Amino acid sequence: MEKKLPNQVKRITLPGKAHYPVNIYLLGEGKDALLIDTGYRETAREVTAQAAGGRISRILISHYHPDHSQAGEAIARETGAEIFAHPEEIPTVKNWFEGTEVKTLTDGEIIEFSGGELQVLGTPGHTRGHLAFFWKEEKILFSGDLVVGGSTTWVGPPDGDGRDYLASLERLQELEIAQILPGHGQEIRHPRKKIATLIRHRHMREEQILACLKKAELSLSELVREIYPVLEERFRLPALLTAAGYLNKLEHEGKVEAVSGDEIHYKIKSQ
Ligand SMILES: [Zn+2]
Repeated sequence: MEKKLPNQVKRITLPGKAHYPVNIYLLGEGKDALLIDTGYRETAREVTAQAAGGRISRILISHYHPDHSQAGEAIARETGAEIFAHPEEIPTVKNWFEGTEVKTLTDGEIIEFSGGELQVLGTPGHTRGHLAFFWKEEKILFSGDLVVGGSTTWVGPPDGDGRDYLASLERLQELEIAQILPGHGQEIRHPRKKIATLIRHRHMREEQILACLKKAELSLSELVREIYPVLEERFRLPALLTAAGYLNKLEHEGKVEAVSGDEIHYKIKSQ
């Protein structure tokens, strides 16, 4: 039987643009309702209409990407809410705005609301100041783009960092999470399994890249051809950036090195 979300949470799924639909979450009741993420600017009205009477006191931003933060200003104007984001994200969040203030939110802070307490988790990787929110009473994690339903999270330049991303996933393993409500896709009812799968997937990809580079020095595009022999053109750029993200991590760890030439090549670093 389909398990319903607790009464204090309302999921609002908004249309995406290039990407798939985005989930934002309204938490709590009355004047003190919280909103986690905002959707694109164009859907601001839909959000305020769905918030009972438009009463939202605080808007928490998981990260600056437009599908998660862009409507913040319009919603804040309509509801009088204050907007919060991690200091690393604030300058880029404010790029979407005409002047609305954004307050800081950092790892370890506790946000009280009518449903209990939300613990703020600094979970960099997808972006530098990505935040997730753990609702202790219900053991629900609002994961933003740290974990998404039915897919893997995009981690690549300029904002992504594979080492941080892995560390953020590993940190989740220390929490007793009953359910994940992600920024995209369906709720995740087996969080342990999902997180372990994501970690395994990243390790597997790294091993694969190291194995390719053990056979030959490769440029980024040659490496992508090795890892994804069949690749539709529209996935080519994301694949290049994803591979660049992995190489960046392996370079930092001293496992591979870049060799300059006409085009940068990568090789296994001799120890
Ligand atoms: Zn994102």
